[in-house]
Amino acid sequence: MIIGSHVSFSSEQLLGSVKEALSYGANTFMFYTGAPQNTLRKEIDADLTTQAKDLMNENNIDITKVVCHAPYIINLANKQDLNRWQFSIDFLKQELRRCDALGISYLVLHPGSAVVYTKEEALENIIEALNQVFEENFNCQILLETMAGKGTECGSYLEEIAYLLEHTHQNMGVCIDTCHLNDAGYDMRKFDEFLDEFAEVIGLEKIKCVHVNDSKNERSTHKDRHANIGYGTIGFEALSYICHHDKLKDVPKILETPYVGMTWTDKKRLYPPYKYEIKMLNENTFDPQLLEHILTDYKR
Ligand code: FE
Ligand code: FE
Ligand code: ZN
Repeated sequence: MIIGSHVSFSSEQLLGSVKEALSYGANTFMFYTGAPQNTLRKEIDADLTTQAKDLMNENNIDITKVVCHAPYIINLANKQDLNRWQFSIDFLKQELRRCDALGISYLVLHPGSAVVYTKEEALENIIEALNQVFEENFNCQILLETMAGKGTECGSYLEEIAYLLEHTHQNMGVCIDTCHLNDAGYDMRKFDEFLDEFAEVIGLEKIKCVHVNDSKNERSTHKDRHANIGYGTIGFEALSYICHHDKLKDVPKILETPYVGMTWTDKKRLYPPYKYEIKMLNENTFDPQLLEHILTDYKR
């Protein structure tokens, strides 16, 4: 199974990301090239990138399965303020250039939020923006992420993603997010039915990444709040089934579950759950004392 989590990209850049991934027992990972909420970015350091690649080679991490995530503030759907829309386009181009410099094959992108536009108008805005991005050639491919449909988010229906893929001038793939799909109304407990629908509307070969998250909310609530694996409404069995699915065996699985505190609700000191969640999924065995196990380990 190719599985990892989102990791940070700080002073050591990609090298730091690889080290963090290895500390979780992961064999892949996802990173942001800076804080996901802003667009402050440092130059890619070639030396750190080389060291990162060496460390990946030594540990059998296949760089073609490593993914980057574009910052949330990119919104290609809203053209109300043309300067901001253009900024999103230019920033997305820069992200793709940074991915090319790092040798990363995939960049996950939220399609965008319509804000004041109708869904139809918003989709046209996204297409126009993407086609502007595609005037330049990149090795890195964009993966459109399936969204929960929170607020005015586009991309919560497979048909919308299919429409975007059909009308853009370069090949893109899809990143499916189990929490988002659940919140959008798709039943993750009937995953084979979902895959059949995906195959019909988009095509299974388009799935290049799976975000594996449980959900704090019931199906169709359009909330987008991730829960730890087995501690949400989707449940461990369904999520493990997805991770072990034969049709997705070459696709990287990425956890974006919340850090945990001293209790499930504590927010003061937070610990990453990934090492334990990866272990549970690899072993296909739910740990009903996940929180306790994470805390005893970190307290040492
Ligand atoms: Fe995302
Ligand atoms: Fe996601
Ligand atoms: Zn989410």
